[in-house]
Amino acid sequence: MVAVFISAMSVQVLAAKMAEVELKDELTPESPLTPKPMVKTGDTSPGFLTPNTKMPQASAMKRTDPQQNGGEAFVNRDGTVAEAPRLKKIQFADQKQEFNKRPTKIGRRSLSRSISQSSTDSYGSAASYTDSSDDETSPRDKQQKNSKGNGDFCIKNIKQADFGRREIEIAEQEMPALMALRKRAQGEKPLAGAKVVGCTHITAQTAVLMETLTALGAQCRWAACNIYSTQNEVAAALAEGGFSVFAWKGESEDDFWWCIDRCVNLEGWQPNMILDDGGDLTHWIYKKYPNMFKKIKGIVEESVTGVHRLYQLSKAGKLCVPAMNVNDSVTKQKFDNLYCCRESILDGLKRTTDVMFGGKQVVVCGYGEVGKGCCAALKAMGSIVYVTEIDPICALQACMDGFRLVKLNEVIRQVDIVITCTGNKNVVVREYLDRMKNGCIVCNMGHSNTEIDVASLRTPELTWERVRSQVDHVIWPDGKRIVLLAEGRLLNLSCSTVPTFVLSITATTQALALIELYNAPEGRYKQDVYLLPKKMDEYVASLHLPTFDAHLTELSDEQAKYLGLNKNGPFKPNYYR
Ligand code: NAD
Repeated sequence: MVAVFISAMSVQVLAAKMAEVELKDELTPESPLTPKPMVKTGDTSPGFLTPNTKMPQASAMKRTDPQQNGGEAFVNRDGTVAEAPRLKKIQFADQKQEFNKRPTKIGRRSLSRSISQSSTDSYGSAASYTDSSDDETSPRDKQQKNSKGNGDFCIKNIKQADFGRREIEIAEQEMPALMALRKRAQGEKPLAGAKVVGCTHITAQTAVLMETLTALGAQCRWAACNIYSTQNEVAAALAEGGFSVFAWKGESEDDFWWCIDRCVNLEGWQPNMILDDGGDLTHWIYKKYPNMFKKIKGIVEESVTGVHRLYQLSKAGKLCVPAMNVNDSVTKQKFDNLYCCRESILDGLKRTTDVMFGGKQVVVCGYGEVGKGCCAALKAMGSIVYVTEIDPICALQACMDGFRLVKLNEVIRQVDIVITCTGNKNVVVREYLDRMKNGCIVCNMGHSNTEIDVASLRTPELTWERVRSQVDHVIWPDGKRIVLLAEGRLLNLSCSTVPTFVLSITATTQALALIELYNAPEGRYKQDVYLLPKKMDEYVASLHLPTFDAHLTELSDEQAKYLGLNKNGPFKPNYYR
């Protein structure tokens, strides 16, 4: 019923309002963000972004099923979809079963679900300043209520709410687009009537997203997508603010599924939108409450894993609602790969080793997005950076950027730090590890922990010494030691936090994808997986520009005609990465 109020028009009005505020001063009347009268054309999108602009048709945004060969798929920079090296181990027992197999039930205290698969391909700020060890009682055995007497939540300790609120306020400062969405929505509620059930990392950044969705009219119930990543104090702040949140740091596997179930299984409330990170929530609803999909208008999925599973479902003809793949939106990818790594490589190395970068010789394996970010950061710190590459184009880029392109064996004896970011396997093998100099730091920024052949170091003649969390010294019989970080797993996700601004991009993309799916007219999206329309991707970026007092140049009519573009975007073809 409430959905009646959510007409395409209301989304346009919201878009217009959003456009009016804040950027108004910087933009000329014909700016892409300036409200325009609506033009209705057949199956044209209502135009959340710019009312007079035809949105890319849904079908145009559909990504080819990338799972032909069972591997991960990526949209290449040339727009083609390619299978990525099959390195990623999705740790789901039931991965091949298309959401059919029951998850393992184990004891409540067991932590055998060592890490949620989503945590390997999506980010959460792992920094929680509260220690969950102060109280051993399981949250499931506690009766807690917030100050208003509401007890529809299950978290570690409601008393941490004030602390969590401060964490959320800090995050808000680096999430300008969500704050702008709230402000610009003003009276409009594009998510009025939306009942969003979410399963993501429960962090301060997620809290900003949840509170934004609520400001836009949605009701939210939330569980964690990872048993370790919940910031307990943030969960407390959310519960105190009236959110039904079911999550704490250090859940058992049984707790994990119990929390998800508590989000969806209650009388008088049924979700109509899913926001998932890793596919667990979607899986649970498919398995336990398939009828719920009758009311669900769409799924927004954040992670590589979850997207992969949605494509599997789609391929099998079992996807029964439209799904939006936000993982592959351009803005998100750029931020996750290039800019995030540019910042977090230094953070991860510093926290683990206290190394000084100036003058150090570093070899970075792979000069893709991640490699470029790492190299740029290290160069800026005064390191002498070498690059290895297999692709002549990326190799040439490395040369143009002023890096020495070498083969690993040429520099392996002299370098102080080795960083892999290829997405490949066995890039650093035992032979190289044997030849490294004493004290050499070895780490991986690529997705899989197979880039460094860590298994080859598990031999009797080598001694392992855990010197810090995530830091091992591997010692050779002659006393030489190398410093291995995170046992070859992704350094920044294991040993540092991810900048909130990066998460802001993702969260904004998620919010817009929810709005788009929730308000899309019947028929625009079918039971398939879609990329976020390019125009929205551009909008996510534009919402972040005011932070920098950045002034966007506007195409003149003549220029727009010359380039064959609409003045309001999209400014690049769908395949542009
Ligand atoms: P990319 O494809 O742009 O770059 C990888 C590069 O490595 C390519 O240029 C490729 O030619 C090169 N390469 C492959 N095998 C090589 C070898 N044996 N020696 C030298 N170079 C080799 O990919 P990307 O976006 O840079 O991502 C790289 C990896 O990092 C992927 O596994 C990705 O999932 C992961 N990733 C990590 C983070 C993070 O935060 N750490 C973020 C995003 C992606």
